[in-house]
Amino acid sequence: MALDFVNTDVVSEHDRTSDVLRSADEFTAWCAYADVPGVTTAGVCGANGDELLDETRSLRTAIRTVVESIAAGRAADDQALSTLQSAYTTAISHAIPAISDERLSWRWTTPTPKTLVWELTTSAVALLSDGPTDRIKVCPTCGFVFLDTTKNRSRRWCSMDDCGKQEKIRRYIAKRAETRRPSGR
Ligand SMILES: [Zn+2]
Repeated sequence: MALDFVNTDVVSEHDRTSDVLRSADEFTAWCAYADVPGVTTAGVCGANGDELLDETRSLRTAIRTVVESIAAGRAADDQALSTLQSAYTTAISHAIPAISDERLSWRWTTPTPKTLVWELTTSAVALLSDGPTDRIKVCPTCGFVFLDTTKNRSRRWCSMDDCGKQEKIRRYIAKRAETRRPSGR
């Protein structure tokens, strides 16, 4: 869920409009699509829509930055970590802890568009802390983030049907162009 959320804005994809979330209502629509808990009763965004959208986007940027750092095995940007921390603090401070399915979970009594943001925040923190972080990957072609669930963790692209094939075609064309170029001139 957290990675799908990050993929609502694919930064390096140049041939289509990258941001799926252009309004707070599009955010709640996406939450319905992604089955974020509480979305069916969360209600509408109302007057605070723009504020919610800003909050959503900065959270998404922070999660992407941390995801990319983990995937690349490097330290994360301090600002991204502190954005994630403050979103998490807010989410937890409004939550009611409960034990369900023999594990600790966080729930919010009245679902609102804000609780959807909190659901995404806690889901992201759970994934980025408990993993499987060694399966988190970033597609080198389009920037999609995904969990590599293959046995030997050999998956490179978001989907072999799209990006993998595209990359192979691109390499083939580049190679052809190279060999056809007259040498020594
Ligand atoms: Zn891709």
